[in-house]
Formats: sequence, C-alpha cells, structure tokens
Amino acid sequence: MEVKFIERLKEYALNSPMQIALTFLNYAAGDRSELNVTYTELYNRARAVAVSLIEEGLKTGDRVVVLSNQTKENVFAILGTMLAGGVFTIIPSPDNESRKQRFKSVLESSGAKFILYDNLSEEPMKESGKGEIAAVKNINTAECNGNPNEWIQPEICGTSLLYLQYTSGSTSVPKGVMVTYGNMYYSLEYAKYCIKENMPEVLVFWAPIFHNMGLFTVFLDLYIGARCVIMPPDAFLENPLNWLKAVSDYKAELTMAPNSAFDFCTKYIDDAALASLDLSTLKFVINGSEPITHKTLNSFTQKFRKCGFELSMFCTGYGLAEATCVASGALHKVDFKNIDYDCKRKNKFVLCGDDSPSQMQIASMGRVIGNLKAVIVDPETGRELGDNEIGEIWLQGETVSGGYWNQKEQDTTFRGTIKNRKGFFLKTGDIGALYDGELYIIGRLKEVIIINGHNLYSQDIEKNLKEAVPALRLCSIISFSKTIGGKERVITCVELAAGARHDFKDLEGKINESFSCVFSFTPYDIVFVEERSLPRTDNGKIQIIKSGELYDTGLLKTVYSTKASELSGD
Ligand code: ATP
Ligand code: MG
Repeated sequence: MEVKFIERLKEYALNSPMQIALTFLNYAAGDRSELNVTYTELYNRARAVAVSLIEEGLKTGDRVVVLSNQTKENVFAILGTMLAGGVFTIIPSPDNESRKQRFKSVLESSGAKFILYDNLSEEPMKESGKGEIAAVKNINTAECNGNPNEWIQPEICGTSLLYLQYTSGSTSVPKGVMVTYGNMYYSLEYAKYCIKENMPEVLVFWAPIFHNMGLFTVFLDLYIGARCVIMPPDAFLENPLNWLKAVSDYKAELTMAPNSAFDFCTKYIDDAALASLDLSTLKFVINGSEPITHKTLNSFTQKFRKCGFELSMFCTGYGLAEATCVASGALHKVDFKNIDYDCKRKNKFVLCGDDSPSQMQIASMGRVIGNLKAVIVDPETGRELGDNEIGEIWLQGETVSGGYWNQKEQDTTFRGTIKNRKGFFLKTGDIGALYDGELYIIGRLKEVIIINGHNLYSQDIEKNLKEAVPALRLCSIISFSKTIGGKERVITCVELAAGARHDFKDLEGKINESFSCVFSFTPYDIVFVEERSLPRTDNGKIQIIKSGELYDTGLLKTVYSTKASELSGD
C-alpha cells in the first residue's frame, strides 16, 4: 500500500499518456517560456534513469545526491532513483560558497555513491572539490539512456527509505531527515483527505524542489494526477508578479508560499499590473512555513480583490521536514484568535476580547492531519501541558520520520517520552498551544528571548515596531538576545528596504520609545543593515541565530548601529 506511489505513476502514464504532469517555466531570455512533461515521458525517463543507475552498480538503499536547478532532469533523477530502489537526497546546485559547503557536507554525511546532475550544475559541481567527487559516480541525468522496458520494480516496502531531506538550516547545521515510503504515503493520503472533493487540477509554485515544501508538492501532484507548474525561485524574487501571472495564466487551483511572499507581492506589484491578473480560479492558497499575520492576509486580499482574489482562499499550514512536510492545516477558513499578550509572556494561552489593551491576534493552524498526535509539553520537565498553556509541540504518528541519518546518540529530537503515553514523540523545537483541538504556533524554542522572566519572540517585536513606526513597514526586523554583563540584553536588527533613506537617530528614538511602552525595556543595540543582507535559508527564511553569530563577529553589513555610534561619541 505504501508504495502505491509507483503504481499511480504507471497508471497515469498508461491511462492518460498525453496528460501534462509538469510544466517548467523559464525566464532566462526575459520572456517566459514553458517546457511540458507528460505522464508518459516522466514514467519513461524515470525508468530509463533507474535502469542506468542499476547498470552503473546501484544497490537497493544506496544514496544518490541530486543537484537541483529546478529542471525536469531533477525530477527524472529523483523518480529514477526511487524506481531503482535507491535513496535520493536533493540539494541546490553548488553555485556559491555556502552551497559548496552544503554539497560537501551532504556528500559526506549521506555516504552517497552517486551524483545525478543536470547541465547547469556540471561546472559548479566540478569546481566544488575534485577529491570529494572523485570518490562517487557522477552522472548527467540527461545521458541516462537505459531501456525503460528493462526496468524491474525494486523490492521496497513502507519502511524502506525514500529520501533524506536535509533541513534548511534555520537554526542548526543541516541534518538528513530519513523519510520512508510509509511517511510519504500517509502524508499524501492525509493531505488528499483534507482536500476531499475539491481536488485541484493545476498547482503552481516557486519553492525550490530541494526544499520539503516544493518536493512535497511535486509528490502530491503526481499522486493526485494533476499538473504542476514549477517556477525558478529567482523568477519570483526578481519580480513577484511572475508568480501571480503564472497562477492567472495557468488557472491554478492551488499554490503555496510563506507569509513574507504575500507581503512581497502587496508591496512590489504595481497597481497597473492588476488588470492583467485573474486569480479567481484559486481554491487553496496555502500560507505556511513562517508565522502568519492577519495584516498580511488582509492587505493582500485588499490589493488583489479586483483580480478575483478572496480572503477565504487563504489556508494555513504548519509543517516541518521531520514530519514529512505537513503536520496541520486549516484549509477552509483562516481563523484568528485574540489572545492576551501579557498572559502569553507567562506561557499562558488565554483568549480575550477585541477591546482588551493587551490583545494580539494569532492564526489557527487547524487540526493535525490524519492520525497524527500533537501534545504540548514543558520542554524543561517533559510534563504534558493543558489547553491554556504554551509549550513545545511534540508529534507522533505515521508521517513522523524515524530520525536523522547517522543520528548522534545524544540527539533526542525523535526520542521524547511523556508520562502515561506510549511510544516516542518528535520534539519539534516549535513553541505553541493546542486550543480546542487546534494548533497555534508561537515561535521557535531556540529563538525565545527571556527578559525579566518573560518570554518574548522576534516576530512580536517586529509586528509591534512596524505598527508603531511606519517608516519601518517595508523593512525586515529580527531580534535576538545575548548575555552582556551577566544580563540578557536584546539586539534588534533592521534590514533596510531597497532605496529607503532614513534618519537613524530619529528612528532610534522611535524604536526605543515603542520598546519602553510595550515591553518596558529598551534594546542594548539597534543595528541597521544593508538591504537583503541578513543570512537566509534556501527558502528565504531569515536565520536569526546565525544573524546573532554574525553580530558577535562583526560581520553584519551594518549601515548604522546605535552602540557603535554611542561608543564613537556621534
Ligand atoms: P532547520 O530545522 O534546519 O533549523 P527549518 O526548521 O526552517 O530549518 P523546515 O523543516 O523547512 O526547516 O521548516 C519547518 C519549520 O518552519 C517549523 O519547525 C517551524 O518552525 C516553521 N514553520 C512551519 N510552518 C509554520 C507556520 N505556519 N507558522 C510558523 N512557523 C512555521
Ligand atoms: Mg527545523
């Protein structure tokens, strides 16, 4: 049952041979061009890759590193590895220094015997380190010309490893999450169950396919027999209109992106372009992977309403690589609750009215999918917490991975135990609450700032500052804490928006005033950094912990720092 995925692919190839499975959009020449792959081509190419890998000596369970550029060869490579009984791990083409490091560490950590590359990744791969790649077989996927008819289905079952998903590295060095056929099967089945009769026929996304959000969407597409339109992430970053134009032109019914992507569209898409967009075909616009704000949903809806967009199209999703991408979701309406901010700081989840002075809105992530169990736990004592308490989210179920590849013994991430509950739980590292059976995400354990015994989160500071200081509306703002002179002190880092001119002294005053008023203290330092200069993961999330390390070593691209100006007597 858990390997039904392969059966599905065969079925679609035989029954709907000319149906388009994947469309790759290319923006290289300035204009958009498309490249379509039918279910038959996909099945044939995947089998050809599988046969070639076996001819080259691949044995069941061997790891294959796939270097990704968001091309059709990358999808042939992952499916080919799967059909050969291998275990793929897809990572970005090593085309910059940090990606080269990632490539080397994944190659070493996974113990891969093969690399499947595409034309674009050949040079970067060869430049990355002759020593490392000499020890593995490097094959250009386009040159895998095995005879598809010689393919024999490998011996695999639900517990067989399907892939290693290296985490994106927001808070730590990337680790390979082991995802089995069973994990993926249940994740797809649960997602399908949530969507029910509204099965989308066209999906559009620009998330990298080496990231779990993009990869899962490709699997979902092939599992439900839909068409997936895949854009390069840069095409979105260079011009967010490209994304919505693709949604409009291909009549997409499902798309997804992190919260910041919706703000990006609201800010940078010119009103003149709205007349050319029709977003009315959308059924599911999944907002996931980052904290979701009411303001983002409302501003986006307000701007794109004239293109047929409605607030009810938004869905929320919470997930992580360790639980095969999806853990919970609210697909039909985004519900916000007003909670009491003062209580939240003391780890209590208490609802309050709209008129309460300390209210804040928080989005429901809906119920956990399928048979997944979510429990809120005090991360220090391991004690299970109740409905009104905030703690770490622990998960258990068929979609939860068995662990990290070559997991260190002392790593207890997948080994949480709870009194009176059977089996192990995954400690997600996320802080949240379960209220009325629905999940609410508060922040990340590693990023909590504890000041005067109260818990504070970077996103709360950002939200508050943007509301209080309009000039910061287009900036990204993060905060972290450091122990300075034996005390926890907050450093707030403002990443400037393109082309903005500021009077930093004036902003400093306003930021301090807002801090004093809401949080009763002022930051130790306020650092203004260059546009898009904070470290980000491959799917665009700002790495807060890493930013703190860069602050310590003086490597942030600082334009103005209140501490530095104080010391220099400016
Ligand atoms: P790393 O594990 O390497 O530090 P990462 O956690 O960003 O990186 P992913 O598995 O891609 O890697 O992302 C999952 C995380 O993203 C979750 O653990 C959670 O912190 C965050 N996240 C996902 N969905 C939401 C959401 N709807 N709201 C808030 N945060 C979310
Ligand atoms: Mg994580």
